[in-house]
Formats: sequence, C-alpha cells, structure tokens
Amino acid sequence: MEATNGNSVILDRSLPFEDRARRVLDHWAGGSERWLVDDLAFFLLYCWFLKHENALRFEPYQRRGEQRSGLADTPLVRDYVAASLAAVGGETGWNAILRQRGLCSCGQTNRLENMGICVECATFECWECQEDHRAASGHDVVG
Ligand SMILES: [Zn+2]
Ligand SMILES: [Zn+2]
Repeated sequence: MEATNGNSVILDRSLPFEDRARRVLDHWAGGSERWLVDDLAFFLLYCWFLKHENALRFEPYQRRGEQRSGLADTPLVRDYVAASLAAVGGETGWNAILRQRGLCSCGQTNRLENMGICVECATFECWECQEDHRAASGHDVVG
C-alpha cells in the first residue's frame, strides 16, 4: 500500500468519485500530508469543489437540473481543499496548473483553464464534448 497516496486514489476511476474523495478525506483527517493532492488530481478535485461549493447556485447548472453534492459543503472538504491549494503554492500554483495543456477525447488540446474534466472517468473534455459526455454517461463534468 506504500504507493497509494491522495493523487492515486482521486484518479482511480474504478471507484465512484465521492467514494474516492471520502477515502482520501478519512486518511488525511488521520494526519498524513501524503493524502493531499496536487497537479491533475488537484485540478479534478478543485474544479469539483468549486462547482459544488458555489457554482451550482448559478443558472446554467440549475437549467441542466444538476444536483449539488452535500460532500462538497462539509468543513472537512473545505479544510482539505485549502490545505491542498496551499501545498501546490496557492493561487500561483493553481494558475500554473491551469496553464498546462490537456487532451480531449476528440483529439483537441487546450489549456486546462479552457477544459472540463469528468470526475468519474478523469478524462478531459473540451467545451464541445462536455455536453455529449454528460448526456451519454450521466457523469459529472466540472471545470
Ligand atoms: Zn473534445
Ligand atoms: Zn465520464
């Protein structure tokens, strides 16, 4: 189990996303820094958090009938996201992650700031592909 850390669990698409998040949170609450996430796993988690913490109140999400995740609203998640954000270097680190490029399933590459990511599949989706992926899979695409 030594190779297991926050990143590998958050990106393990064999489990539903909220189960992965709960596992990482449980371990982190037990006191180990290696359960924090960075890089791609942080991108996924932070986009998910921002969407469910704030943005589901916004009209495009409401129009699609998306559900708010109760998990994103808990103090433990807020603390964990804040600790991970600090560990990647705060806003500066976040902006560096957003400037990385990702490859969509359709072959288009884009900066992550212009991409979404499916929390279940951990695959990037460009703006054009997000709706299709959501409709075909019922998955939560964030970003
Ligand atoms: Zn695409
Ligand atoms: Zn998916």
